Amino acid sequence: MARAFVALGGNIGDRAAYLNQALLALRQAGNRIVAVSDFYESAPVGGRAQRPFWNAVAAIETTRGPRALLRQLQGIEFALGRRRDGARGGPRTIDLDLLAYGQVRMRTRELTLPHPRLCTRRFVLLPLRDLRALPPAAGQPPGQCLAHPALRGQRLRRLGGGSGHAEDSQNRPQ
Ligand code: AMP
Repeated sequence: MARAFVALGGNIGDRAAYLNQALLALRQAGNRIVAVSDFYESAPVGGRAQRPFWNAVAAIETTRGPRALLRQLQGIEFALGRRRDGARGGPRTIDLDLLAYGQVRMRTRELTLPHPRLCTRRFVLLPLRDLRALPPAAGQPPGQCLAHPALRGQRLRRLGGGSGHAEDSQNRPQ
């Protein structure tokens, strides 16, 4: 078993429902959901003007290796209607990023661990803080991430609902 952190976010349709469905799908795929952060609303970072995202982070235990887990996340994105239209940073029903997998550090075309933008996204760092977990960020002592200059101006609103535990993931804000 390995401990991994998965970031969830989306800004199309019923955002709470997509987050909850993704959590359910993660569990149905055989992972144990150890804890789930509060839900947050975030203004899109960069890219085009679009609706705010809802975000959360889940800590999971998995028997899959990092690449297999990434492929599983991509399968869940697809099952929940995510379509890649070629443009990055556009609206999406659900985006699942693998933030960290144990202490693994790797960089391949397919997968970089820890996630290269972990330290520059407030909508990832604050949910991670809810989980009292700050996985090592690439090249940065984790405690320094919250002072990263890239975080300035990133707006984030806590929506609540976090409790920490998988069994409560059906009770997220609607
Ligand atoms: P996105 O459009 O943000 O969902 O980016 C997905 C792309 O990033 C895919 O091509 C993945 O193979 C790649 N990628 C690299 N590292 C990661 C990671 N840690 N988590 C998720 N996707 C990753």
